[in-house]
Parts: sequence; structure tokens; C-alpha cells
Amino acid sequence: MIRATVIGWPIAHSKSPLIHTYWIQKYGLNGTYDKTAVHHDDLPAFVDQAWDRGLAGFNATIPHKQALLKLIEPDDRARAIGAINTVYRTPKGWIGTNTDGLGWWRALNLSTIPKSALILGAGGAARALIHTLFLKGVKIHVANRTRAKAEAMGQRVLEWPGYEIDGRGFDLIVNTSACGMNGENPLTLTHLDPGTLVSDLVYTPLRTRFLASAEDRGGIAIDGLGMLLHQAAGGFEKWFGIHPEITEDLRQMVLEA
Ligand code: NAP
Repeated sequence: MIRATVIGWPIAHSKSPLIHTYWIQKYGLNGTYDKTAVHHDDLPAFVDQAWDRGLAGFNATIPHKQALLKLIEPDDRARAIGAINTVYRTPKGWIGTNTDGLGWWRALNLSTIPKSALILGAGGAARALIHTLFLKGVKIHVANRTRAKAEAMGQRVLEWPGYEIDGRGFDLIVNTSACGMNGENPLTLTHLDPGTLVSDLVYTPLRTRFLASAEDRGGIAIDGLGMLLHQAAGGFEKWFGIHPEITEDLRQMVLEA
């Protein structure tokens, strides 16, 4: 029996068990994936107990992604991003990786690499995306409400434009900020070059005002659900040995849950 879990505090809202259980059933595997509420103070004990209990690994969400770096050996990607979201067992101990950046990139499903990107927000998700874009050679611009955090990304910094954004001059624009989550502080694109790829990491709601305004101005909108599914696939492959398919059925099931 292969067992994995997702840890966080709080964790009740997590859709990860739904996604992984769907794949476990789809591929007829003898495995489980559940959720475990772990308080920050209990993280070191959880890491040890999970090892002793024989877990294949686990996902980590808020507030553990950075804290795990002090407890688990990160791979190069997790070290560069500064956060671990996926942990897997090896003969030498736990290894922590980060599947957010690559998951997001796969969800874009691009045939050509963008030249110039505008990243709105400078939190943990932005760091993962920027790492991926940097490796692809994309020219990166970052704007964040708190300028110092944008500067810490080591890329070109633009003034935070507020909630109305002139997106001209970029062929990729990404909202990595929490703006638009549950409809709060929605971002709107006032201008856009036609054909610009516009990605929003927020997936509640799925069609944010940001994405709607992008489509209204001739942009190509990519919602945040694809990233959620593709980052999950990276962990599933580590634990269960299969790179799972991301289907419309799965998207619908997660949306309806
Ligand atoms: P985080 O580290 O807490 O960063 C939050 C970011 O949002 C910061 O840049 C913050 O700006 C900005 N922000 C929050 N409220 C704002 C407001 N009212 N006005 C302007 N900026 C605001 O969070 P994170 O982990 O990077 O996550 C960011 C978003 O991505 C969340 O909505 C999260 O759900 C989503 N996400 C989605 C996926 C997926 O799979 N689709 C994966 C990861 C994250 P300041 O620095 O100024 O506070």
C-alpha cells in the first residue's frame, strides 16, 4: 500500500486528496492520499513520524513550504525557489522538491517561448514561476504592491500599477497575487496587445475579472486550475510511479467539488 498526504494549517479546504484519489482509482493502484492538519510547531515531529510510518511522501501548503527547507534536503529547484511543496522518500532520506513552476508552465502548453513577461505579485507562487521563466530565458518584469518584495526577486521591477493594468508591451502577463480570489480586489486589464497570453493563478472563481478582461481585449486566457492539476501530477509521479493524465473529467470533478 502506497500512502501519501497533504499537510497544512488549515487544511480542510485542500482539493489535493480529491485529485490524487481520482488518479489512484483511475490507475487501479493500491494507495491512499489524505489530508493531515499539521500546526507549525508540530512540523518537525510530523516529518519524522511520516518517515517511520512508511509514507511515500507528502505535499505541503501554507504555512509549511518555507519551513520545510530547514528540515528536509531540497533538490536544486526547491533550493532556488526557496520553498518545498512536494516531499518524496529516497533510500537516503526525504527529498523536497517544488512542482509549482513546472506545473504552471505545463498548464500553459505553449509551442513558443514568450519574450517578455509581466508578473503581478511577488509571493511564493511568483518565486516558483520566475524561476521557471528565468531558465527559459524570458525577460521578466515584476510589479508588487510591496515594492521591496518585487526587488527581492532579482528581476526588472515595475511600479505596482494598482488594480487597472495596461498590459501593452508584454506577450505574457501573470497574476500571481491573491487579487481576485473570491472576487476580492479584482485586477482588470485596460489595454493589451492582441494575442497576449494571460494567466491567473487564482481559480476561485475560475473565470476571474482579470481573465475576462483579457479575453475582451483579444488575449488568450489561462485559468489557475491547470496549474493546480499539473503541480499535483509532479508529486503523484514521484510516489506512484505514473505520470497521470489531466483530463476534462478531472477538471469538472474538481470544479464541482
Ligand atoms: P503569498 O506568498 O502570500 O503572496 C501573496 C501575494 O499577493 C503578494 O504578492 C501580495 O502582495 C499579493 N496581494 C495579496 N493581497 C493583495 C491585494 N489586496 N492587493 C495587491 N496585492 C495583494 O501567496 P502565494 O502562495 O504566492 O499565492 C498567491 C496566489 O496564487 C493565491 O491566490 C494562491 O491561491 C494562488 N496559487 C495558486 C496555485 C494554483 O495551483 N493555481 C498555486 C499556488 C498559489 P504584498 O507583497 O504586497 O502583500
